[in-house]
Amino acid sequence: MKAFDYPRIATKILRKVPDRFDAALEWRHQSQQPALSGRSSRERQQTLLAEGAQWTFVKQDEDASGPFERLTAARKAVAGAWQAEDRHLVLIADTGDDLDALVSATLAALYDLPTYKQDAKPSNRLEKLTLVGPFDEARLNRRLAEAEGNALVRFLSTLPANELNAWSYRDRVEELAENEGWECRVYSYKELEQMGAGAFLAVARGSDDDEASIVRIQYRGNPDSTDSTALVGKGVCFDTGGYNLKTGGYMFGMNGDMGGSAVVLGNLLTASRLKLPVNLTGWLALVENHIGPKAYHANQLVKALNGTTIEVVDTDAEGRMVLADTLTLASREHPLAVFDYATLTGSCVGALSTRYSGVFTNQDAWLMPLIQAGRDSGERVWPFPLDPDYDDQIKSEVADIQQCNPGKSSDHIDAARFLSRFVESGVRWVHVDLSADHHKGGLAHVPTEVTGFGVRLTQRMLETLLP
Ligand SMILES: [Zn+2]
Repeated sequence: MKAFDYPRIATKILRKVPDRFDAALEWRHQSQQPALSGRSSRERQQTLLAEGAQWTFVKQDEDASGPFERLTAARKAVAGAWQAEDRHLVLIADTGDDLDALVSATLAALYDLPTYKQDAKPSNRLEKLTLVGPFDEARLNRRLAEAEGNALVRFLSTLPANELNAWSYRDRVEELAENEGWECRVYSYKELEQMGAGAFLAVARGSDDDEASIVRIQYRGNPDSTDSTALVGKGVCFDTGGYNLKTGGYMFGMNGDMGGSAVVLGNLLTASRLKLPVNLTGWLALVENHIGPKAYHANQLVKALNGTTIEVVDTDAEGRMVLADTLTLASREHPLAVFDYATLTGSCVGALSTRYSGVFTNQDAWLMPLIQAGRDSGERVWPFPLDPDYDDQIKSEVADIQQCNPGKSSDHIDAARFLSRFVESGVRWVHVDLSADHHKGGLAHVPTEVTGFGVRLTQRMLETLLP
């Protein structure tokens, strides 16, 4: 993909510390330093490897009780131990889980987000990563593949709004699909008009071009099967709010409102790297939410692709509009399941902060496994209710449904109820409201405010919800 340069490094796993690393071991056993802190001295690095290795010391930390805590500790360790000029990093840990956390944190730190600063420092020069401890190739490859998927999410979510708009995003997706051997099918503005995708187009028509589209991409890791899991993502390249214009600082950062679609791409990339024996169909709603003579506004009546009539309330609730028709397209193929991702509601952030993302599902049996997938992956999620009586909050006098409640309401739940209308009956569904797509200071193993949340979680969901 254009300008997505993911660094390649050589990796090696050693089960035991070789002789020339004795100094490290000795230091480790004698160290009075608390676990996961500090950096070794320059002298120590030179003792370790002439080529300038840096190493990190880890022992079991009683506070690091779960994956999230281990990943957080590892992020801090890596930040403290690694300097940009290091070319060889040696990670040593007593347990596979600790080493796993250190590897994850190192790979997350390895990727530099795009910068347009004239005096930007050259990126890090890490060439080699050596792991010493109980680890295997399969586990390492998994972390490498997830890290690349996560880097893609963060890359796309960081691009300036004029670098990533509805047409250039589509262009990049087409190029990525070609490089990775994914099938790619673009539903153009014109075509969506003919199909009657009124909910998507209500938002798209605010732009002065017809560049918005829904893109279907498919990774076929199991070509003998027709089964596929659909991943649907909100790709609002910039969200001004529309006529319900965002004010003050609230518009700033809205170039990241396409994060959900990036999570879809990140997962397809990870699956490709791992050659996962499954089929994944990605559905990307690529659009901008602008104001203009044709832009939608409150009290309009919109007819969605599946026939549902929607009373427009607030143009800033555009995510659910573009997802509605995209969910219809995805679920009409009757996939094994539909997982959708969206930076959807402020009320989800209000409920969980940016530490967790919210999840909703029409499968009660998946509630505990979803929480567990979040815990195991370090990308934590918590479920909210999806009971039908919440529909009272988006009841319309003139249409089948209101876009959102005009007053104060549990908008993240209302949004999920709204979306549920567009998932064909009988299709298993999980909706992820990505409140943790950014977190000041980084989250778990990821050191940047843009977290790329959703790849590790989804990989775990694919394993445990759809074995
Ligand atoms: Zn919005």
